[in-house]
Amino acid sequence: MGAPFGAGRPGWHIECSAMIEEVLGSPIDIHGGGVDLIFPHHENEIAQSECAHGRPLARVWMHNGFLTMDREKMSKSIGNIITPRELLEQGWQGETIRWALLSAHYKAPLDWNDDLLQQSQASLDRLYGALLRLKDVAAADVSAPAAFVEALADDLNTPAAIAALSALATAANVAKKPAEQAQAKGELLAAAALFGVLQADPEHWFRASFGAAAAEIDALVAERIAARAAKNYAESDRLRDELAARGVEVMDGPSGSTWRRKG
Ligand SMILES: [Zn+2]
Repeated sequence: MGAPFGAGRPGWHIECSAMIEEVLGSPIDIHGGGVDLIFPHHENEIAQSECAHGRPLARVWMHNGFLTMDREKMSKSIGNIITPRELLEQGWQGETIRWALLSAHYKAPLDWNDDLLQQSQASLDRLYGALLRLKDVAAADVSAPAAFVEALADDLNTPAAIAALSALATAANVAKKPAEQAQAKGELLAAAALFGVLQADPEHWFRASFGAAAAEIDALVAERIAARAAKNYAESDRLRDELAARGVEVMDGPSGSTWRRKG
């Protein structure tokens, strides 16, 4: 095929090199792409760009693993594609979707399925449960702990960072002294902020996933508080069982009762 400059035509390898030079200027900080593009596409981009300009094309290359859907490759023709908007419409919370995506290292393949979302929600429930337990404690103004930051600094090792977050939730759960609780809550929130999770009020987190039923649960919890205040323990136990049947655990604390999804 002919082109104004002679035989041949620009292919997509040269398109990338040309656009990077024109729009961003090399070297760029990060060049991403799927693992399937390492060869030949990215090797070709490097060869032509570095020969033309005499400098590196990118400082860092990051190649992501594939996302599969119920162990099948996602494809428009099979129709097994789901968008974040559809997941939100199904009632999943944004942080649950984010957590699911962070649960595998970016280089590793990730299989998307309802179990993954359930597990992600359960992991976040545990973290939000720790915050709920410490809701009357003012968080200490601290930075994210080293274990969490080092995991992310190690080629964005999000599974290791998730393990560090989980350990912070455990520390928050077992902290007894007010200063330890404030420190643990501060560390948990600071680390979570780098992940973009635990951004909701914990009570709101648990309410949101119950949708319209949240108001009914509030009413049952209020009835139970009244029954306890009246020392009607048979009624308060009955209400606790009814709430349990709806997947709700009531947490009684010094400043009143809150509720969360049962783990
Ligand atoms: Zn490219």
